[in-house]
Amino acid sequence: MAQILKGECRICNYNTSFKYGGSRFDYQTNNPVPAYNKTTEELESINYKTEKDNPNYIFYTDNELKGKNEGNNCFGNFDLSLNQKDNYCPNCKNFSLNFQIYIFC
Ligand SMILES: [Zn+2]
Repeated sequence: MAQILKGECRICNYNTSFKYGGSRFDYQTNNPVPAYNKTTEELESINYKTEKDNPNYIFYTDNELKGKNEGNNCFGNFDLSLNQKDNYCPNCKNFSLNFQIYIFC
C-alpha cells in the first residue's frame, strides 16, 4: 500500500513529504523509500528496488538513520520498516525527525 508520509523535525522545523511504498500495480518494480542523499544532503524518495546498493543513498529503513523511537510505531513495507520518531534530520543532523502518515493512496 503506497502512502504519503510527512516528515517534520522537532528541533529545526525542517519539513518534507515523500512517497513510501509502491502501489498495488507496480510494487514489484517500484518501492519508493525515503533515503538520505549523501551528495545533496536532502531527504528523497528513492526506488529501493533499483537503488538499494547505491552507496550514495542511506535509506531511512536502515539502522544508521534510526534513533531510539521509544514506544512508538513503525511503518512496515514488506520486510522494511520505518520508525515514527527520532530519525536523522538532513537539515540539523540530529535524531529528531518524526514521520506521520499524510495520505494513503
Ligand atoms: Zn532538524
